Amino acid sequence: MSAYGHPPRATAWRPGEAGARAGLGAQDSGGSGALAAAARQLGMSEQDIFDLALARSAWRSMVAVRLGAGNARLSWSKTPLPVLLNVTELAHASAFAGVDRGRILLDDSEPTALERADGNWGPAARRLGATGGGAGATVTSLAAEFDRHLAPSIRQPRTRADYWRAWRLVVTWGVARKALGSVLPMSLETLKALTWDLVCFAAPTSQVELVWKAVQARHRQFHLPPPMCEGNQFSSWAKMLGAIRGRPVALKLPIQKATVRWLLAWRPTALAAHRARLLTAVATLGCLRVNEVARLQVCDLWFDYLMAYGVPGFEGTCSVHINRRKNDTQRKGHYPAFGRSRDPELDVVAQLRHWMVFAGLEVHPDCAKRARPAAACELCPPLFPLSRCVKGGVTVATRQPCSRQKASDWIRWAVKQAGGDSSRFSGISARKGGISTAIEARVDETILYLQSGHGAALPARAYMQIASPARFLETFEAFGL
Ligand SMILES: [Zn+2]
Repeated sequence: MSAYGHPPRATAWRPGEAGARAGLGAQDSGGSGALAAAARQLGMSEQDIFDLALARSAWRSMVAVRLGAGNARLSWSKTPLPVLLNVTELAHASAFAGVDRGRILLDDSEPTALERADGNWGPAARRLGATGGGAGATVTSLAAEFDRHLAPSIRQPRTRADYWRAWRLVVTWGVARKALGSVLPMSLETLKALTWDLVCFAAPTSQVELVWKAVQARHRQFHLPPPMCEGNQFSSWAKMLGAIRGRPVALKLPIQKATVRWLLAWRPTALAAHRARLLTAVATLGCLRVNEVARLQVCDLWFDYLMAYGVPGFEGTCSVHINRRKNDTQRKGHYPAFGRSRDPELDVVAQLRHWMVFAGLEVHPDCAKRARPAAACELCPPLFPLSRCVKGGVTVATRQPCSRQKASDWIRWAVKQAGGDSSRFSGISARKGGISTAIEARVDETILYLQSGHGAALPARAYMQIASPARFLETFEAFGL
């Protein structure tokens, strides 16, 4: 059994101490594989790791006792500071008596009905209005519907899920330290205490910062004054942590243009390999994030879109319609473009057309994407769908979109086929590769923006209207295909 699975036991651990001194030396567990590996990874001694594990199990016991939830099953996270995963199920526990459960245990991380509609908000809003509106509606009930269906979208569902995970930690901490009454609203004093516990339990810097953000966000959500109220307090606290612990640099490598060439020249017969290589090339050339490439539908390939300028020479190009980017939560849309390559063997536009035929993916004749580009199309299939095995061992494309994780896995796999070390690449490598290639080729930063959509909030961007379609292709040209 590894040290992490150590059963609870009474130790000399006291609140505020980093770890228990249980008198167990490293030699007692010396050489045990998991312990030694964890020690190497964290740069701690095996003794420290062992002590932390003891402190964690003491923490879990303390929370269980102070919670007063009887025999209710507690499920725990494996994070450095153990967190109750099922806090909402434990609302009846005596620890929550007298606190505002509605605010403290509110979990709004699930996408709302309007968000699930993905741009097709009209029918979804009508369905909700039929149940929540009506003649008997009062101002109070209508405002409650607003809070339920609209207000969560102030943040993206993924951010809300991150914040909820971090907030569960705050609630668990509140139980352990008998401080549930002071987590919402929270004073700066309480935030300092919470932070010190996180540091003593060796929580990574990213997690500490996420907890701070989650605390701040929950205060704003309920119009409470947040604990960090000075303008630059967050960044000065982040610097404080960085000064002590160092900040790990991002280690994932950008995909090289040679890799894109290799992938476009590769002619695999299997559908999965074909999909992985093309998805990786498209994501890199378009500077796309994994969730953006995973969401693409066949009707998002706008072939010959640049010909609308009326300038000759743009036949065979393709713009990729992206209805929502990280910095474009308002769905204004963004159009990275692929040009014609000099080498016909490396023509990504022709290969995309071929891929759609190969995988049996077609744009539906009644597709309304061009008329309503902000909405997800309910008729057309995804561009890179999941596949399944049918009789005879043949793999076919389904109509199921892939997840971000899947897209990331495929990118890593494709880079490995091209000879890269898959542990050094991930989904973000595609976007990094596109942007790095453009910068190395000295593509103007404002032109690179047309492909990557970074920094969309910069003031002049909203007024930028490019006169020559050729400029849209400069990032693509940087790959020298
Ligand atoms: Zn469509």
